[in-house]
Amino acid sequence: MSARILIVEDEARLARFLELELTHEGYTVTKAADGRTGLAMALTGEHDLVLLDVMLPGLNGLEVLRRLRSESDVPVLMLTARDAVMDKVSGLDMGANDYITKPFSIEELLARIRAALRGGAAAQRRTVLRWGALTLDPARHTVDYAGTPVALTFKEFLLLQTLLEEQDIVQTRDMLLEKVWGFDYAGETNVVDVYVRYLRQKIDAPFGVKLIHTVRGMGYVIKGDEA
Ligand code: CA
Repeated sequence: MSARILIVEDEARLARFLELELTHEGYTVTKAADGRTGLAMALTGEHDLVLLDVMLPGLNGLEVLRRLRSESDVPVLMLTARDAVMDKVSGLDMGANDYITKPFSIEELLARIRAALRGGAAAQRRTVLRWGALTLDPARHTVDYAGTPVALTFKEFLLLQTLLEEQDIVQTRDMLLEKVWGFDYAGETNVVDVYVRYLRQKIDAPFGVKLIHTVRGMGYVIKGDEA
């Protein structure tokens, strides 16, 4: 069955162009021209991928993404204006799977769509991860400690998931940066340390555990035998 793609884009010519190209590639395409309609359509759960423009009438793309992510893990590829760095950072931190900067080539867009669809399928296969009383469910996108829910942002969740998947293996900052923020991340390089600190504030302190260890000069690790 062909993947179903929802295009949320108010520029009619671009939306039409994308519809033609994606249909030609064999995808089933639906379109929405404003944020509210797009959000409602995305929440039906009938799509395998959402192409989401940032600048939209009604609700902007970041707000659509924020509301969508409270209920859905559908892969989202953001379409951002050139040099709108804040849009990229905000979008990725709110749970966009990837972004592409306008103007883009159709080949680049198709490659990113294929990657996002593969990532979405892989996420659904993943099993629940555990460390002692801590449970992370990739499919439901939830974390709890002994039954108490822990509210994490999308990046905090991804960082914790990455460390839990590789227990006892030290992950360097570069490895974590690539896995969680993407290979072409261009922001602050201490972002990994900042997010480890967030996780410690949300898990170590309230639950009295030592979850993530700092390995000096190397990186971070979660030790399975301490679970
Ligand atoms: Ca727009």
